[in-house]
Amino acid sequence: MTAVLSGTDLGAAVALSCRECGARVELGPSYACTECFGPLEVAYEFRLRGDELRAAIEAGPQNIWRYAPLLPVPSHVASTPNINPGATKLVKAENLGRELGLRNLWVKDDSGNPTHSFKDRVVAVALAAARELGFKVLACPSTGNLANAVAAAAARAGIRSVVFIPSNLEQQKILTTAAYGGTLIAVDGNYDDINRLAGQIAAEQEDWAFVNVNVRPFYAEGSKTLAYEVAESLGWRIPQQVVIPIASGSQLTKVDKGFTELAALGLVDDTPYKIFGAQATGCSPVSQAYKAGQDFVQPVRPDTIAKSLAIGNPADGPYVLDVVNRTGGAVEDVTDEEVVEGIQLLARTEGIFAETAGGVTVAVLRKLLATGKLDPDAETVIFNTGDGLKTLDAIADKVGPTATIKPTLDAFEATGLA
Ligand SMILES: *Cc1c(COP(=O)(O)O)cnc(C)c1O
Ligand SMILES: [Zn+2]
Repeated sequence: MTAVLSGTDLGAAVALSCRECGARVELGPSYACTECFGPLEVAYEFRLRGDELRAAIEAGPQNIWRYAPLLPVPSHVASTPNINPGATKLVKAENLGRELGLRNLWVKDDSGNPTHSFKDRVVAVALAAARELGFKVLACPSTGNLANAVAAAAARAGIRSVVFIPSNLEQQKILTTAAYGGTLIAVDGNYDDINRLAGQIAAEQEDWAFVNVNVRPFYAEGSKTLAYEVAESLGWRIPQQVVIPIASGSQLTKVDKGFTELAALGLVDDTPYKIFGAQATGCSPVSQAYKAGQDFVQPVRPDTIAKSLAIGNPADGPYVLDVVNRTGGAVEDVTDEEVVEGIQLLARTEGIFAETAGGVTVAVLRKLLATGKLDPDAETVIFNTGDGLKTLDAIADKVGPTATIKPTLDAFEATGLA
């Protein structure tokens, strides 16, 4: 039997279960197994399935709360102040597909979220659960996008936020976070240093919910909504291949969990799919482990322009390896130069301006095709998880005006550009 903290409403969630040993603990702010220190994840007893579930989803709001029956959130979540992300576009990428020789390519464009990255999904779920669990402050250690999402969601919810970032973060991510208000602390250290610090602070501050630390099991579930939206946008189908960027690896593993749930609940046919992971070579611990055939991940010291993916010790690394190996996918990494080419390629072919993480994904897509690991005839979805306006420095010395002229017709004609 499992217990739920009395009086809490976290929907169909019934317990936290250990991913290593399966031990169950009551729903609450725990994130590590007391038996074996393995990570905990949310377990459910879903109340709806099949046509009934599909009807409930389709009658829901145009944001992630349409999937509330599949998330660890209160039943009244849609009417509680929150950032309400989701319903982002699945763009048919005809031009990029043609250029790369892919017959059936889609871009899930998560730059359309309220703070322009996929992190709004995980923060929205963490906020909803954290309030239900009685937390008063929303906090996080961040590689950049999470900082934006936490500060904005806390502002909307009318609660305090405390955000920790590496002091060398992109200016665009520092200033936008600061604009939402709340406490912003720049730390002279990398993400892994800050994550360690956050764990220490979380142990002291009982009413602070560090979204990706002490309420991480709830936060992580938000990424399932990417899988739900892709399947629903395709007319309730699972695509054959998906390419996903990896930082901690949480998103990739939860997209797999989302597809698995949809098939088990009868919303989609149980068709095979392959999940591919994308990293920047300058921070590619999961890719290195995959290529070495290991089932563990050796931490690295990150050195890449893809700062949003710069986690040297990825918490979900081993589980990414499980998913990729089980589904028949792969993990690949690309240089910073290829990342910039990826950003430019997507912008030039589809009019989608991605941040460095999106550049990683596009460049990895290209590399996986070139090495024959991806099937060019299979239906493929790649994730653009963030907005290029936040990482302008990456392309600053690559693009600019075609010409700079005086405001006269003569000057224009002299350029030969007519
Ligand atoms: C955080 C982040 C990711 C990946 O997150 P995980 O930690 O692997 O879940 C991907 N893209 C962007 C833009 C991000 O900010
Ligand atoms: Zn355990």
